[in-house]
Amino acid sequence: MNEISFERLVFGVDDEARAAPHLVQAMVELTYGCNLRCVHCYNPTHDAQDELRTEAVLRILDELAHEGCLRVGFTGGELFVRRDTFDILRHAKRLGMILTILTNATMITSKIADRLAALDPHQVDVSVYGASAETYETVTRVPGSFLRFLSGLDRLVERHVRVLLKLVLLTVNVHERRQMQELAMSRNLRYQMATDVHPRVDGSIEPLAYRLSPAQAFEVWRESAEPIPSASLTARGESLAAFDGRCIPAGGVAPPSNTPGILGRRALPAGRLARLGATPDVHHGLLTSGGSQMRGASRAKAEEPSCGFDGRVFHCRCGKSNVAVTPHGRLNLCLSVYHPRYDLTRGSLKDGWKQLVDLVASARPGPAYECNRCSLTEHCSRGVGDSWLATGQFDNPCMPHYRELAERKASFLRER
Ligand code: SF4
Ligand code: SF4
Repeated sequence: MNEISFERLVFGVDDEARAAPHLVQAMVELTYGCNLRCVHCYNPTHDAQDELRTEAVLRILDELAHEGCLRVGFTGGELFVRRDTFDILRHAKRLGMILTILTNATMITSKIADRLAALDPHQVDVSVYGASAETYETVTRVPGSFLRFLSGLDRLVERHVRVLLKLVLLTVNVHERRQMQELAMSRNLRYQMATDVHPRVDGSIEPLAYRLSPAQAFEVWRESAEPIPSASLTARGESLAAFDGRCIPAGGVAPPSNTPGILGRRALPAGRLARLGATPDVHHGLLTSGGSQMRGASRAKAEEPSCGFDGRVFHCRCGKSNVAVTPHGRLNLCLSVYHPRYDLTRGSLKDGWKQLVDLVASARPGPAYECNRCSLTEHCSRGVGDSWLATGQFDNPCMPHYRELAERKASFLRER
């Protein structure tokens, strides 16, 4: 029997789904309840009201598995505000699904950490909002949350749970990005920097006040491609290349393990790789010239072009391989596109999935749409969700924030 790696398996089925849609991956929001009050949060509420009961969630998981779903990401809100979270996680595991768990870590007690270690999920994504109490709590608006975050994180690290840190960069914490990287490095953790901030799904644009300007987002992008040497690198005896390999730029793909000695995949924009004549070495996270075992998959995942790239409204995986489920049982295109709200408490997942597939396959851009004839698509991170959240349309004309960022990236790459 031939063996294939986990990455090859997931990338393979995901890429196939672009041509012939089939369900591969679901994001399941277990609750909107959260113990934090982040300034940039896109959830419509922080209260858990009339959300799906345990049996209803388990039934949806059964249906997802039946449709072939391979991988499930569980998120909130903060999913540990639910009392039945482990019943749900264990059920998904019994169904043979690959689990990713997204948490702010502030509710991870020793008991929860023990149970997570026993569950052995593929990955736990932990959001980081700052490297000092003052900055972190400016984002979360909850006094004492920074210390609880650090304690929760360290409980996971002590138990060797596979953690990926998501460094959430906003106007109010971007000045601490180096210290946030240090926080990851000092624990030998992989990390990813995220600069995308979306309007709330109820249409409020309040979170955008905390979004980095195109100039700031460009600096972060540029720095993530060229990490600056750090004093702690030398102290830890780690090479720059090794450190570089553990930094996964936004839009990149998490490596399978943070086991010491196994470094992360290096994901870089496809355009830049082409200019360098290089491909990411998927085993060691280092740039190598010439061939790579997974060149196609790596390039495709490195930085996906915006929707509109190939003339269609949806270039992304929504309605081709991915779905999202809300805490009230609505099936949507993704977490940030609260549409079409197919009601899984009344209809089957099979029918809901078909509705999504038909919606995406039949979507045609209107005359005002510009992304399908834009030379910057390779560098632009605008997705259908950004357009939809801003105006309720998938095919808006060019969005200036994304254009300016794309222009800065393109100009930087031209001058190298
Ligand atoms: S931790 Fe996440 S869900 Fe909770 S308030 Fe912050 S951004 Fe929102
Ligand atoms: S720069 Fe504007 S038109 Fe071009 S891909 Fe981005 S949002 Fe679309």
